[in-house]
Amino acid sequence: MASLYAHIPFCVRKCEYCDFYSGVAGDAEIELYLQALDREFALRAPKGLRPDTVFIGGGTPTRLSAQQLRTLAAILGRHVDLGSCREFTCEINPGTLTPDKAQALAAMGVNRASFGVQSFDQKYLRGLGRIYEAGTAPAAVQLARDAGIARISVDLMFALPGQTLAEFHNDLQKALALGTEHISLYALTFEDDTPLTRDLQSGKVKPASEELEREMFQLADEITARAGLPRYEVSNYARPGAQCAHNLVYWSAGDWHGFGAGAHAMIDGEISANAADFKHYCEHLAAGKLPLTRQDKQSPLERAETLLLMGLRLVQGIDLARFRAFAGQDFTRLCGEPAARLVALGLLELTATHVRVTPEGMFVLDNVILELAAGMGVSA
Ligand code: SF4
Repeated sequence: MASLYAHIPFCVRKCEYCDFYSGVAGDAEIELYLQALDREFALRAPKGLRPDTVFIGGGTPTRLSAQQLRTLAAILGRHVDLGSCREFTCEINPGTLTPDKAQALAAMGVNRASFGVQSFDQKYLRGLGRIYEAGTAPAAVQLARDAGIARISVDLMFALPGQTLAEFHNDLQKALALGTEHISLYALTFEDDTPLTRDLQSGKVKPASEELEREMFQLADEITARAGLPRYEVSNYARPGAQCAHNLVYWSAGDWHGFGAGAHAMIDGEISANAADFKHYCEHLAAGKLPLTRQDKQSPLERAETLLLMGLRLVQGIDLARFRAFAGQDFTRLCGEPAARLVALGLLELTATHVRVTPEGMFVLDNVILELAAGMGVSA
């Protein structure tokens, strides 16, 4: 059973650090986009598509009005059977949720709200260019709950310029105080060509030191574990049973369909990607053409590499039987040498059934993956 992702590439305003595919648009453009999305589903959604999980991401899906969200629900209703869907997530920017929109999401079938809070501290919200005030997030979470959306996840950022360990601790406590079942924590990264990176280059802001970032990472582990939401992925923490089932599909190199501008899909090793360009996306679909910019089948080794790249992010690591099924060869045969080196360094663990990164290895995850991928003869 595959999962389904739909991308809504609109935001109220572009955040200072953001390099995701999203932009500011008016209602006319949003409506054009929804028409294009409907056409894309009609052209390429498999008949009887019954996803196990659905994720609406962006952008800011709640940039859509309540009426536009109902249009989106009607599109899904026309092309997708949600009868077997056990998890339906929508990303929510707290500054955009209204009671009407929360009701529209719940009526669509959304049962999990993923709030992009990033910080509860006004000065950091301002620095990041977020559109809402510090008190907005708790009120927005309550709106979702009042509409019947029970599962709440909160995204926070850390290692923000000037942020202290105590301030990050405070953010974590506030996220937990909302009774959230899931927290995603991302260290701020300075992506190419963003206003924040230009501020970094001009010396206006200073990045957090590596040492402080590591302390924050460790603090997050301690606080979340104590609160009953242990880490299950390098950036994600959840109560038992509340892990994000949709993202687990990505992390286990499973199958998902993707719709919308910039959306990717992977079905049985075949990867496809839509143009991350609103105009291209809408024009192609208006002409009855798919807006694909990529469609290729992964080789067995490439599939195994994807599993390595994604699966080592998980605390439980990679199921060696799955790796063998993808690669056609044992992990130890392909990666034995670098794996032994990483085990000796205390960065990797091999059991009879799994390979996983140690807590120490999580700090240098990218390097661990690169070393293993190099051993496979493919580049991560
Ligand atoms: S709301 Fe999210 S997608 Fe939109 S600009 Fe901000 S970070 Fe980027």
